This record gives sequence, structure tokens and C-alpha cells, in this order.
Amino acid sequence: MNQADTGTRAAVVGAGVVGVTAALALQQRGLSVTVLDPQGPGEGASSGNAGFLATELIDPLSTPTMLRKAPRLWLDPHGAVALPLRYLPKLLPWLARFIAAARPAQVTQGRQALAALNGAAVAAWRRCLADIGAEEELVASGYLLVWESDRGRVEARRQMEHLQRWGYEVEWLEAEQLRTREPGLSRRLSHGLFFPNAHQVRDPLVLVRRLAQAFEARGGEIRRARVERLVPASNGVTLKTPEGNLTFDQVVVAAGAWSHHLAKSLDLEVPLETERGYHLTLPGRGQALRQPVGSAERRCVMTPMSCGLRVVGFTELGGLSLAPVKRRYASLCRHTGRLLADATGLDAPTEWMGFRPTLPDSLPVIDTHPDYPTIHFAFGHQHLGLTQAAITAELVTALVMGERPALDLEPYRVTRFRRSDGQEQGERRHVS
Ligand SMILES: Cc1cc2nc3c(=O)[nH]c(=O)nc-3n(C[C@H](O)[C@H](O)[C@H](O)COP(=O)(O)OP(=O)(O)OC[C@H]3O[C@@H](n4cnc5c(N)ncnc54)[C@H](O)[C@@H]3O)c2cc1C
Repeated sequence: MNQADTGTRAAVVGAGVVGVTAALALQQRGLSVTVLDPQGPGEGASSGNAGFLATELIDPLSTPTMLRKAPRLWLDPHGAVALPLRYLPKLLPWLARFIAAARPAQVTQGRQALAALNGAAVAAWRRCLADIGAEEELVASGYLLVWESDRGRVEARRQMEHLQRWGYEVEWLEAEQLRTREPGLSRRLSHGLFFPNAHQVRDPLVLVRRLAQAFEARGGEIRRARVERLVPASNGVTLKTPEGNLTFDQVVVAAGAWSHHLAKSLDLEVPLETERGYHLTLPGRGQALRQPVGSAERRCVMTPMSCGLRVVGFTELGGLSLAPVKRRYASLCRHTGRLLADATGLDAPTEWMGFRPTLPDSLPVIDTHPDYPTIHFAFGHQHLGLTQAAITAELVTALVMGERPALDLEPYRVTRFRRSDGQEQGERRHVS
């Protein structure tokens, strides 16, 4: 339901799940909103994800444990981590920051900041979907995390206790209980953890399209245009596009893995990288599993969706322009064949690769520009962009409206990284 028109014109740059939820939330508050994107709604990373609200992922990606495991995951030909050598020189500065982010104090802060967003995520999605009458897109599915090797018991036990301390409901399942819970899985599994309160969406692309349709039905505009630059102006912000200039009162940058290019045009250096992820979708196998299933050892997730069974995996730190690496699809096929009881459909999957936007500390940016109070940011949600989109939309809307956000946004500041010249960003922070 929209509030009365405020007369304020806002633009959202990027029509991914983060941009479209933000556009709807702004529109709901009475702003006249235009979304700009050269692609259709949800056609970036938001189309091909695992569709799982991974609220239990509260650990930052860079931790001492992860760094210890990374070389093995990288050297294994089917391992989950890939660093294309051609891209390595470009990646090194980001990698150095990523490694530095494993300091215990930073991990603790990062965990608190991720848990704050994830803890608010499902309720925000419910509000968003109830507003447009699309509650059925969110499914209370539960989630299974499984191990094939008996050696994984210690890790599983540690993970269960860790998450229980953070208030998550987690149940231990032995092989027999796993088979009852999920008959679609191979009989070779050893044990697993069940998260009864977990949620998935029916299909992430359909979800964004429904959000976009609701937005347009309420008078919102979606323009196919690439924003080249943002120029602060006396009467708002001008967006430079190949088709001409457009001026708005307020702008939200939600351009996923491309957002740092736009931030740079505003004198902000944001060390955003992309973790390229791959998926296979097996059409006609949407009933193969009862809920999303993650493999702790293979580091892939299989989700039953309305479009089929989707299998996602890989963290490939390869930038935005290299072509997809074909053998990753073969690895995903191999993993799926080992995990499912019935591997029908693996001979004809659809293949996809997309760009997770990731900062070295694994936290998104949800903030206002330190010098230009009409420019706001909502990007960098790494593996959690679907999970955190609706809460991010509410938070960034509070910033646009000049209200106090429901969460402390200090951990998500755009200025938490230094300028390339070493000067601390945010020294000129505007008090508005
Ligand atoms: C394989 C895989 C599996 C995943 N699984 C999950 C999961 O299960 N759960 C979860 O929570 N998250 C998951 N994620 C992460 C999630 O998909 C992303 O974090 C999320 O989609 C990011 O959304 P976004 O709107 O920021 O970016 P995108 O969806 O990439 O949207 C950004 C948009 O900005 C546009 N854009 C870029 N530059 C410009 C410009 N200059 N002008 C105008 N528009 C521009 C792009 O065209 C694009 O449409 C997964 C990601 C991958 C790759």
C-alpha cells in the first residue's frame, strides 16, 4: 500500500533483488521511483542463485579456519575455490584485505553484523511479500546440511553448537533419520544437521519479476539504461546515461558487483570483488528434494524450485569479464550425481554463471555518501543478497527518508575502507 505522494523523485540504479526491493520500499513511502538497468529485472546475480534464505550463514567468509582450508579447496580439481591465474595480479590487493579480515576481533564484529541482518531477514521478506500479495513465493522449507564422511562429525557438532549459541534451532540427524527426512538423497550419507526454521523462495527470478510487476503496477518506472556516472547537482543528482541525463532528488546505487565503478565516480574507493558462482538447473526435477540441501564437504547447495532442481557452487575469484569456465559445470554434475539417490536429468541441465558482489569483510554497504546526502548505497551482499534484500531495502529507505534505521548501520559504512591515497574516507562525513 502506498503512502501519499511526497513529490520526491528517486532513482534506483540496478534492478537486481536488492534494487527492486528498495524501489518498492521507497515507492511505498510515497516517492516517485525510477529503476535504471540495462538488463531486465533480476537478470543479474539475482536470477541464478540457490533461492535459499541462508540466515544461518553468520560467519564472515574470511576466518582463520577458512584460510586454513582454502589451499586444499583450491588445489582439488573439483574444489569449491578457484583463482584463475590470469586474474590473480588484479586480485592481490583485495586478497590481502580479505586475509587481513580474518583477525579474530574483526571476525567477531563481522559475525555480529551479519547476524543482525540475517536475524531480521525473514520478517522483512514477509512484510515485503505481504505488501504485494505474493506471500506464496516464500516457502518455510527447512534446510539440511549433510556430510558424506564420518570424519565430518566433529565439524558438524561444532557447527551445531555454535549456531545454537546464536539462537538457531538445529537438529542432529544420523544416516537413518536423514533418509526419512529426505528420501531423495543418496544412501551414502553419514549424518546431517536440520534447520527446521529455514526458508527458500520458489524461484528467485520469478520473485524479482513479481516484485517488479507490482512496482510498475503502482506507477513505478523501469528504464533499460546503463548509468555511466552520478553527478551531484544543486537540485539533486544527475545520472549520466548513453541516452541522456536524468536528474532525481535522491538516488540509491544497488548495482551489485558493478557498484564500485559508480562509487568511484563519487570519489569513493570501495574494494568490491566478485565471487563468480555457477549453477545447473535440472528442469523437471523440482520434486527431487523436499528442501534445500547443502553439502558441507562439496560446498554446493541443491534447491528444489518451480523451475527444476538447482545446484549451485563455486567461489571463483575471476572478475567480471572472463568467460565462464566450462569444467565447473562438470564438477557440479559430479557432485550432484554423488549426492542424489536418482541422478535423472543430469544429462540435460541448463548452465549459468553469475557475480556475487563481495567486500573483503563480507559485509554489505548500506549507507549514505559522506559528502552528498542525496546519494545512498545498497550493495555487496556476497552469498546473502537474496536473504538480506528485503531488510536492506527497509534500511536504505530509512536513510533516504532521513529516519533512524531499525539497525545500527555503522558496520556497513561505505567509508570503512581507506582511500587509495591512504586518507581515511569519511573524514569529511556530512552530518545530516
Ligand atoms: C551461484 C550463486 C548462488 C547464490 N545463492 C544464494 C542464496 O541461496 N541465497 C542468497 O541469499 N544469496 C545467494 N547468492 C547471492 C545473491 O544472488 C546476490 O548476493 C544477489 O543476487 C545480489 O543482488 P544485487 O541486486 O545486489 O545484484 P544483481 O542481481 O547482480 O543486480 C545488479 C544489477 O545492477 C545492474 N547494473 C550494473 N551496473 C549498472 C549500471 N552502471 N547502471 C545500471 N544498472 C547497472 C546489473 O545489470 C544488474 O541487473 C548466490 C549467488 C550466486 C552467484
